[in-house]
Amino acid sequence: MKLKFDGRGIMKPLQEAFREQKIAYFSMEIGLMNEIPTYSGGLGVLAGDTIKSSADLKLPLVAVTLLSKKGYFRQEITKEGKQIDQLVEWEPSKNMELHSTEVKVQIQKRGVGIKAWLYNVQSLTGGVVTILFLDTDVEGNFPEDREITSFLYGGDERYRLKQEIVLGIGGARMLEALGFSIRKYHMNEGHSSLLTLELLQKYRMDIDRVRERCIFTTHTPVEAGHDKFSYDLVQEIMGEIVPLEVLKKFGGHDRLNMTRLALNLSEFINGVAKRHKDVTRELFPGYEIHSITNGIHSYTWTCESFKRLYDKYLPGWANEPELLVRVGGIPDEEIWHAHMEAKRVLIDYVNKVTNIGMDYDTLTLGFARRATGYKRANLLFSDLEKLKKISKKGMIQIVFAGKAHPKDESGKRLIQEIFGYIEKLKDQIKIVYLEDYDMGLAAKLIPGVDVWLNTPLRPLEASGTSGMKAAHNGVINFSVLDGWWVEGWIEGVTGWAIGPHPDEQLSTEETKNRELDDLYNKLEYIIIPMFYQKRDKWIKMMENSIGKIAYYFNSHRMMRRYVTEAYL
Ligand SMILES: *Cc1c(COP(=O)(O)O)cnc(C)c1O
Repeated sequence: MKLKFDGRGIMKPLQEAFREQKIAYFSMEIGLMNEIPTYSGGLGVLAGDTIKSSADLKLPLVAVTLLSKKGYFRQEITKEGKQIDQLVEWEPSKNMELHSTEVKVQIQKRGVGIKAWLYNVQSLTGGVVTILFLDTDVEGNFPEDREITSFLYGGDERYRLKQEIVLGIGGARMLEALGFSIRKYHMNEGHSSLLTLELLQKYRMDIDRVRERCIFTTHTPVEAGHDKFSYDLVQEIMGEIVPLEVLKKFGGHDRLNMTRLALNLSEFINGVAKRHKDVTRELFPGYEIHSITNGIHSYTWTCESFKRLYDKYLPGWANEPELLVRVGGIPDEEIWHAHMEAKRVLIDYVNKVTNIGMDYDTLTLGFARRATGYKRANLLFSDLEKLKKISKKGMIQIVFAGKAHPKDESGKRLIQEIFGYIEKLKDQIKIVYLEDYDMGLAAKLIPGVDVWLNTPLRPLEASGTSGMKAAHNGVINFSVLDGWWVEGWIEGVTGWAIGPHPDEQLSTEETKNRELDDLYNKLEYIIIPMFYQKRDKWIKMMENSIGKIAYYFNSHRMMRRYVTEAYL
């Protein structure tokens, strides 16, 4: 459907333009808050922020995800740095309501019943977005099938395929059964792309009708990261929802590639940052790929002290984050005080859980994200002697956190490796690795440090979002030029780059050398001296983080872009 115009050619307000019909937003994980542990990391938090901004902006959106009744997992770490994966149990009935409607999908030739828990995200603006959390723990289902919606990213590929059937096909059927009228289906990553098969069936194989309804956002810049299933497995588990030749035509000849399926059957396809769009175009030539750079939900990710400050000087900022561009009107001392309040909260927490004795006045670096190879949490430790020299007994202290996926052995080893460095450096630099990185810890950790460090291996950071959270709290980014940072970075103004710009053609080795040079030299000669000796300049950069980054890299702007470029 195209834009609606009234008789004089003036566009009607968006709300009116699609009052009747909704955007269905599908995501394998959604991270709304700590109490609903149905997310593992950035993808889920982005989905949660998408939904919150949609509610604030009163967009007609309904979201679909899996219940993940046994959550992701809670991380404990032993003194030696060994991650222990603990089960999480949470009680959906505390926050949501089970709807009586039941739909069925076929899995291994059995009917599997699916119900939905309904949760309404209610904005102060009056907007509401309903989320359907799909649940197969339904009476009458085979015991095995009752577990399909238990574990987020748990089990083997059979389990994953069953989950994707429930999400994509079950989700589309549930929307229909509940009486939603859907104008577009937005697939957040390829996990839900089986919904296209349900639509093909519904529209009697009319491919154009399916395509004009589908939007696909890809998040994975490596070929190996995309879900693929052998056609034998697909036939065994799913049967033939559409004829096999049709499935192969859209999903790939050798194996069913969930990304290909979504690419082939979506009218609008986007990457999550400009750089990621370029990478995706190379990965999947022949498709028209757009970019809508990610953002974060400003109100969720701004700490209490900065919320008060923005409320005082920039009232209305939470629903109009563009107002942050006027941060220059806030007195420097108040910015600094708001920051120190957040820093005290973090340092007090760190000292309580570790008794390491960090202090409020030392330059504090933060690094927290999923512990997985490409994020390179260990890059900072490439040259321990240099790091010791830079720190000169206590010029810096560092806070780490991050979970490794239970099956990611190399991610787990990475945590152990960091623990080894912490032990080796313990007389020179105070470093902690906090347990159980989740949204609650992120909200405390990110605003409480002075510098937010990010050292991913390019080009594997599709967007990254934690640096945007940092900027909302006046925390300065020091990061590899990948993902969103290529767009947010102005050297010495909004933060600092680690390593070369993507336009520079360098070998892997040259790139790594440049990264290490920047990492150590900028810390020693620019960042540390500015923090201790040029506080006014430092605060200016904090303000630039707010006024030049946060005002733009928020999910309100992102959703307005989705509306005008993809949804209408
Ligand atoms: C924001 C967030 C992430 C994503 O961080 P990146 O820097 O994009 O990797 C992951 N986990 C949690 C808990 C978050 O809040």
